[in-house]
Amino acid sequence: MAGLAIAALLAGRGQRVTVYERAQAGGKLSRVHAGGLDFSTGPSLFTFPDVWRQFLSRLDEPDPLELRPLPGGLGLHHTPFGPVPLPVPPGHPLSTHWARYVSLVAPLAPHLLTLLTTPPRLGDGAFRRAARALFRVTGPHSSAEGWIRAHGFPAALAHALRTQALNAGLSPRDAPALYALLPALIGPDVFRPANGMGALLETLLDFVAARGGRVLEDSAVSRVGKGQLTLEGGEVVRHDLLVSALDPARLAALRGQPAPSPVARRTVSGVAIYGALDKPSALPATSVVPPGDFGAFRAALRVGALPPDTLALVHADDRRLALLLTAPATGRALDLEHPWVRGQVERVGRVLGAPGLLASAGGAVALTPALYAQGGHPGGAIYGRAPGLWRGGPLHPQPYRLNRTLWQVGTGVHPGGGIPAILGGALIVDRLLREAGY
Ligand SMILES: Cc1cc2nc3c(=O)[nH]c(=O)nc-3n(C[C@H](O)[C@H](O)[C@H](O)COP(=O)(O)OP(=O)(O)OC[C@H]3O[C@@H](n4cnc5c(N)ncnc54)[C@H](O)[C@@H]3O)c2cc1C
Repeated sequence: MAGLAIAALLAGRGQRVTVYERAQAGGKLSRVHAGGLDFSTGPSLFTFPDVWRQFLSRLDEPDPLELRPLPGGLGLHHTPFGPVPLPVPPGHPLSTHWARYVSLVAPLAPHLLTLLTTPPRLGDGAFRRAARALFRVTGPHSSAEGWIRAHGFPAALAHALRTQALNAGLSPRDAPALYALLPALIGPDVFRPANGMGALLETLLDFVAARGGRVLEDSAVSRVGKGQLTLEGGEVVRHDLLVSALDPARLAALRGQPAPSPVARRTVSGVAIYGALDKPSALPATSVVPPGDFGAFRAALRVGALPPDTLALVHADDRRLALLLTAPATGRALDLEHPWVRGQVERVGRVLGAPGLLASAGGAVALTPALYAQGGHPGGAIYGRAPGLWRGGPLHPQPYRLNRTLWQVGTGVHPGGGIPAILGGALIVDRLLREAGY
């Protein structure tokens, strides 16, 4: 996604662009076929659509996606203290606590787009104002856990908010405080394209092609040198600018450089299961089954062990069911027959009151950390290596420019990982490249 996004922006400014892709275009946002149905893999929730709109406006394109609000927003969170819908609707027993939470976070809302799309430079007034607004809301708390605990929310709401820290790919003690604020900011703004997430991939491919860019699939890069790439098979190609959209550890390996990534400092990986049910599911669009105990969850992830009960997201769309289990980023092939996977699927079914959740799903397919490791971070960490607590927010490191002719975009570079961070990161790199004369 990141590679196609920056390719469209560069081609839109008249650059001659070639995208080299080791497999099929899309990476984690791809397609699988299960039980006679097509599924879009990877992202299910399209959040912060203003970043997408800014991307479109830079390309001078109308929006072909027809984004539609996803019923239930961030989903129904089945906490050990009772179910919590996020956002909490008016009239719900937690609604006054939710309103207090939203009002605490509100001063940050007008600055979010700036934080996602502006190079983090203290010389930039808009960035400075946005960072100031963030720090006023987070106060002295550096972690999501610290912020949530300090505000004395009821246990059920606090547990649901902790769960959303996983937007950072980290447990709440390791996620920056910013991630405790996200449900208030994205809760009312959760979308999906009318024709499914796959439409985002098709659109990005169209944007690149319409500007004369080439996308070469099944063209793996085996070495990155100064202004040149070696492709698997030995061909050497030269370009005056290289922009990597790979996980930084993978890029370092292609440059022959060490890239230590200790397990304790990796974002999570996952097992994504896609199944076609025999009849439409009665589950809401999104259900969230958090770990019972975040302490045990974190302790397991930090040593690369399988958590006793993990975070699970369930997306139901007519006969399509996607079940995403959070797993440590150790590159393991946790397939459908693995006892831990079976146990977690059973637990999720029990918690949702839907025993035998996948029993009627013919030919279910599982994407495992081993698969994510093939094209991403070597352990399959979805958002790559975790930055330090205080560097995971706006003051993140800026490894966009590795040297004059080698730059990078994508999940592992711009903290936050998902669609808005990837598109925002591509907009930032496009701006920095323009300033650098490209
Ligand atoms: C199960 C799951 C659920 C998610 N849910 C959401 C969600 O609801 N909302 C959201 O916003 N985000 C979500 N995300 C995150 C989002 O999908 C990813 O962050 C995003 O798709 C990653 O895009 P990327 O371009 O940075 O990386 P990737 O998709 O990993 O792309 C990297 C590309 O580089 C290619 N490549 C690797 N090595 C080479 C090489 N040597 N030569 C050539 N090409 C190479 C790969 O094949 C791949 O295509 C989810 C992710 C997963 C896995």
